[in-house]
Amino acid sequence: MFFSTFNAGVVLVFFFLIYMRKNMRIKTGLGQDSHRFESKDSSKPCIIAGVHFEDVPGFMANSDGDVVYHAICNAITSITGILILGGIADELCSKDGITNSEFYLTEGYQTLKDQNFSVSHVAVSLEAKKPSFKKHLLEMRKNIAKVLEIKLEDVGITATSGEGLTDCGCGDGVNCLSIITVMGE
Ligand SMILES: [Zn+2]
Repeated sequence: MFFSTFNAGVVLVFFFLIYMRKNMRIKTGLGQDSHRFESKDSSKPCIIAGVHFEDVPGFMANSDGDVVYHAICNAITSITGILILGGIADELCSKDGITNSEFYLTEGYQTLKDQNFSVSHVAVSLEAKKPSFKKHLLEMRKNIAKVLEIKLEDVGITATSGEGLTDCGCGDGVNCLSIITVMGE
């Protein structure tokens, strides 16, 4: 009797899991952003993925010009259809004077949550001659993981100099691509 009840329970759980999987939505978002450096004598800090890079000037932008957070925001928009850059972020910047892009990404993440999505992975690809990202990759990943409420191992960042084939590869600015994978009910 115990075993038949147990087996029936196992079968029910099995079919429940199949039902859940069938109704689970998995989406992939793609986003891009780039910014040009201010002049060498600019005092504007260079912020990328929430990390301050001291050996280069900041970016030409109304905000801090954080290309990583902006690219992730655009990747989120490609899933939700809700404009963050050119929408929510612009309002935060112009009306409330918020230039810290972490706020934009936090709001962008909220739009995902509002559509019942959770983030399962974020990939970031940077192209720039400078700054050097190597020593800061861990801190950058930690910052992204914290904002999007995911584990550190679910954030991957790669960087390339691009061999000087583009303006960013020549040191004029930084280009960033991002892919975000989300799961929803
Ligand atoms: Zn931007």
